[in-house]
Amino acid sequence: MKPQYCSIFKSNCQGATSPAVFTEFICTKLKGSICQGVCDKTAIDIAGEMRASFPAFSGNRSGMEMHILRSLAQEENFDKFMEYIHTPEKHFRNFIKHNVENYLCTANTNILSIIKKNITQKHQCLVHATNTATADTKQSKGDVNMWLKVFSRQLTDELRFAENDIKGMNHQDITNFDFLQEAMEKSLGTVIEQVEENFASKSSISLNEFREGPDEILTKQLCECCWVQCPFCKAICTNTMKDHDGDHQVPFHRTNGINGWTHRGTDNLCIGFCTTSVASDKEFYPSHTCSKKDSCPYKRYREAGPSYECWSITPDNSQLPYWKWFVCRFQSDLEKYYNRKFHGRGEIPQAWRAFTKEQALRSLKLI
Ligand SMILES: [Zn+2]
Ligand SMILES: [Zn+2]
Repeated sequence: MKPQYCSIFKSNCQGATSPAVFTEFICTKLKGSICQGVCDKTAIDIAGEMRASFPAFSGNRSGMEMHILRSLAQEENFDKFMEYIHTPEKHFRNFIKHNVENYLCTANTNILSIIKKNITQKHQCLVHATNTATADTKQSKGDVNMWLKVFSRQLTDELRFAENDIKGMNHQDITNFDFLQEAMEKSLGTVIEQVEENFASKSSISLNEFREGPDEILTKQLCECCWVQCPFCKAICTNTMKDHDGDHQVPFHRTNGINGWTHRGTDNLCIGFCTTSVASDKEFYPSHTCSKKDSCPYKRYREAGPSYECWSITPDNSQLPYWKWFVCRFQSDLEKYYNRKFHGRGEIPQAWRAFTKEQALRSLKLI
């Protein structure tokens, strides 16, 4: 700020602040705020554009989950599968972030035009605030303090600017508001040029330039919902409310071995689906997830403890081929990960091995 203060000092020595020095000082103060405002609006616009043009972000969290499952199958990266199964919220956030970063790299021209549009919008809004301040002050025969008050009030929703920002200026002698208006238009033109140069010099824009990035905006819009996972298979409740009434529910459960479940007293990973198990006469031991030591019939799974009682698992035969394909494709990875095996009572049925990746992907359409 040294040159600005120096010019104010000089003009104060001459008796008063000239309109040009006064408006130049205001605009210097506004520059950071304009850049920030442009960034904030650009983040919102990019998030909006991605919701409109990326099918993964166009619906709700469940819609995005289908796209996540698809890209997991396409990538065939076991670690990513495990992140999705055990820490789904983290995986969804990473998925959004990764896609936004990609978009920022590839849609550079589009983003620069969004920035340009937002700079123009801020400029128009500043010109409007200047015009209103001048007109109101002239009409009410007010002074320069009134001009400042009206000017900053006009910007309330657009930019951070307060009268206090220019404290210490001796500007009381400014009485000709036509001169002030003219000087302000000139100073605004200069500062907008500087803001444009600031953005034009960037070859690309990165996530850390935003106070709240498009990825965070999308995360807020898409991930503020229930994240409770089925105690058997870790499928995520599909309710769109974070703390909802009623039971947790999901249309498709998974085979329990992918969560490391084994048959009691063996290293045999379970191949059963929750929806089939709850219709059977079998029992399970919930001891590793709650303090209850005794076994519990699957049919009365709700009695097994707090994490079971709030789930509604409908007994049916819905077994998504996707998970059968997954278990076959990553059998050895799963066995290594849990240090258990798909053998004995957990022998993978031969029919499961016939599922191709294409069939697995097609089955996602049922979700
Ligand atoms: Zn389940
Ligand atoms: Zn829920």
